Amino acid sequence: MNRFDYIRATTIADAVAAGSQDGAAYLGAGTNLLDLMKGGVTIPSTLVDITKLPGLDRIETLDNNDVRIGALVKNADLAFKSEFASNFPVVAEALLSGASPQLRNAATVGGNLLQRTRCRYFYDTASACNKRAPGSGCDARGGDNRLHAVLGWSEACIATHPSDFCVALAALDAIIEVESREGRRDIPIVDLHRLPGDHPDIETMLTPGELIVAVRVPAAARALTRHQRYLKVRERTSYAFAVVSVAAALDIDGRTIRAARLALGGVALKPWRADAAETMLIGAEPTRASFEAAAGAALADATPSGDNGYKIELARRLIVRGLARAAAGTPDRLPALPASPFATLAGEIHHG
Ligand code: SF4
Repeated sequence: MNRFDYIRATTIADAVAAGSQDGAAYLGAGTNLLDLMKGGVTIPSTLVDITKLPGLDRIETLDNNDVRIGALVKNADLAFKSEFASNFPVVAEALLSGASPQLRNAATVGGNLLQRTRCRYFYDTASACNKRAPGSGCDARGGDNRLHAVLGWSEACIATHPSDFCVALAALDAIIEVESREGRRDIPIVDLHRLPGDHPDIETMLTPGELIVAVRVPAAARALTRHQRYLKVRERTSYAFAVVSVAAALDIDGRTIRAARLALGGVALKPWRADAAETMLIGAEPTRASFEAAAGAALADATPSGDNGYKIELARRLIVRGLARAAAGTPDRLPALPASPFATLAGEIHHG
């Protein structure tokens, strides 16, 4: 048993003051943090409980039509808020494909953004892991690495980011609001998480003590409402992290793609925005040939980091399928099994 201090903050100012102490960690639902503490992977000296902070459990539409989601909103509450889900279905579908109903009922929006990699060596304190113990090595390099990264990895770390929610948010250019003793600032979600480089132990752009207080989905994302999907390949039908996932959103004018957003999950240590593929899609017709070209561009730099070369072909196929699903139109109702790639469109070749 490791001893730690416990502080229940009642204002954001108190929380960031306490959270700025060396060794402090913020406690929301604790669905990831408490597991890490029980396993001795993380040993905070102080837990700053933020669950009583006022105003962070609200979902509101701002004057400029952005939607602001408080960091303490539960994943399930966001996914089932009908106005939100109908405007940003890719986010709802991603949320409902993650974890289990019990976890989605407890886990918060802010915590989802900051969940740690599920690399098994990270959780095993007997293993070498540069992320957990900088400079100790990486047992995944010569070990079980079939689920590890194919994009953006380094010799120091080949782990992947586990969140589905972040992938959908990346596709919609969400903004993260953070608070510190210096005040409030915005971070685009595509910049929040860091690639591993030589320092996989530094996972985000947050400075010590910075607290995520909200996520904003920009009003501009509403132009993509009618054509967006999240697809996820996983090893079990539910309660499994993505082997590969795709968030695809299109704005289609007649037979021309006016705007395209594409983000991948399960392939890198951050949600992977496929900028080159998006550029290629703009102005193109929404055809299989366009989608295959975009998939090629998205994965041009992909390289196996171990026994995971299959992920590149899997991602290519899932991108094509995700874009085809998006082009076919957002379903009127959320699919019974959110994010399943296996339901077919009329006339579609299933194995494609
Ligand atoms: Fe640690 Fe990253 Fe290597 Fe996994 S892949 S053991 S998280 S350094």
